[in-house]
Amino acid sequence: MVVPGTKEEVSRILKYANETGTKVTVKGGGTTWEGETVAHEGILLDMKGMNKLIEVNPEEGWITAHAGITWVELYSQLKKRGLTFRGAPDNLVSTIGGAVSTSGYSYHCTKYGSIADQVLQLEVVLPGGDIITCGSSKLGGRVYGADPFPLFTTSMGTFGVITKVKLKAYPYLEHNQAHIAGFLYDNIETAVKDLSVIQEKSNPDILFFGSNTREFTIKYREILIEETKKLGCLYSKKIPLLVQLYTSYIKLMNKEMPERINFIFSGYEGTKKKINNISSSSNGRKFIEYSVEDEYIVRGKALWRMLTLNGNIPGLCDCVVHKENAGAFINYGLGKFKNAGFDPVVYGLLLPGCRSVGIGFYTSIQDSQVKQYDNVRKELFENVLNLGGTAYKYGGLRKDIAEKSVGSGFYLMESLKKSIDKNNILNYDVIFKN
Ligand SMILES: Cc1cc2nc3c(=O)[nH]c(=O)nc-3n(C[C@H](O)[C@H](O)[C@H](O)COP(=O)(O)OP(=O)(O)OC[C@H]3O[C@@H](n4cnc5c(N)ncnc54)[C@H](O)[C@@H]3O)c2cc1C
Repeated sequence: MVVPGTKEEVSRILKYANETGTKVTVKGGGTTWEGETVAHEGILLDMKGMNKLIEVNPEEGWITAHAGITWVELYSQLKKRGLTFRGAPDNLVSTIGGAVSTSGYSYHCTKYGSIADQVLQLEVVLPGGDIITCGSSKLGGRVYGADPFPLFTTSMGTFGVITKVKLKAYPYLEHNQAHIAGFLYDNIETAVKDLSVIQEKSNPDILFFGSNTREFTIKYREILIEETKKLGCLYSKKIPLLVQLYTSYIKLMNKEMPERINFIFSGYEGTKKKINNISSSSNGRKFIEYSVEDEYIVRGKALWRMLTLNGNIPGLCDCVVHKENAGAFINYGLGKFKNAGFDPVVYGLLLPGCRSVGIGFYTSIQDSQVKQYDNVRKELFENVLNLGGTAYKYGGLRKDIAEKSVGSGFYLMESLKKSIDKNNILNYDVIFKN
């Protein structure tokens, strides 16, 4: 393993690798799903040594940071300066470089798009060792045609090592406080249908849905309380209230807590806007309305803890499907997982453009269950491709379906890889065939 501290060091390592025919695998937080950051041979390039916030420009709304800084570290450094970011994955122990390389979707995506949409400029070391910058922050947009920027987002580090990221920044107070309303549904199909209605009628900033098991819900709330206390943020005062309200709601309805809790949470950033318009456009049963600070930070931390309880491995199967198919697909997936002995929770987001839904089946798996879990995921991915959707929108690329997902354009990328990385040294086994 090598831990570079500068772009020049990354460049020297790649030059050395080319001279000696040594393979190089890049690793950020190491949290993607398909083992992309496991070095089967050669050098493991650990980017966490490049972990500084470099420049902050609140007036123009951007910051620059080393690619190896984690989101949670960036969050706390920016908060002190009254700033924040958008587009980070739920998993905040990951690095910004790794997140840009996968460019998935997350909490704020309905409004802000993917992680790549938040990036203004990248500094990249190419497989041969040349250092370049791309993205055109000065003009406030991309230079179409001549800008290689997209090559380095979603390509999982196969075209270059990202060393520095220029990221959009937002005023903390305006953005990290939110008004949110929670709605319950009898089944997940109705909830998914309601996403579009809520979106069209009230245009919320935050819009996510899910189907949790009863056990998960109870334990998760407990962990949320602990995590919020640790963070000492406003949310901590609200969480017990949330649990209390939820329990009284169930009692009021004279119902047992159902096996699955189907829900939508929706709201606005900032403290000034009202959420009455969301409530009136939702067909669900409103059970709570609250204001919180840093909700996604707390949720991200709690989720990670939940999935790794008892030393288990977090398992995520994530797909994008057309919103019309989403309810049926979730039920299909839950059925398949259940038959294999799993009972995952489902989290989803209405993606920007609003025609598709990102869906993640989360579960925590034991070592002995990895194979069964993987088999179900294969089936689900095949199904999602047949439905005209794609797999892996929350990071983690399944190599065996990459071709099918992209179509014939995949071969163009393959030949580009060959010309940029002549000796096939960089992330040689991540996307393209050897
Ligand atoms: C509980 C949980 C929740 C998650 N939630 C989300 C989510 O909401 N949204 C989402 O998109 N993903 C999510 N993920 C998946 C994953 O965490 C993210 O994709 C994450 O951003 C990856 O960052 P990382 O630093 O861990 O990258 P790694 O896993 O280390 O690397 C990811 C890929 O990028 C390459 N890479 C890493 N650093 C660099 C670099 N500096 N330059 C070039 N290539 C590099 C690696 O070789 C690898 O191919 C989640 C994962 C978990 C476990």
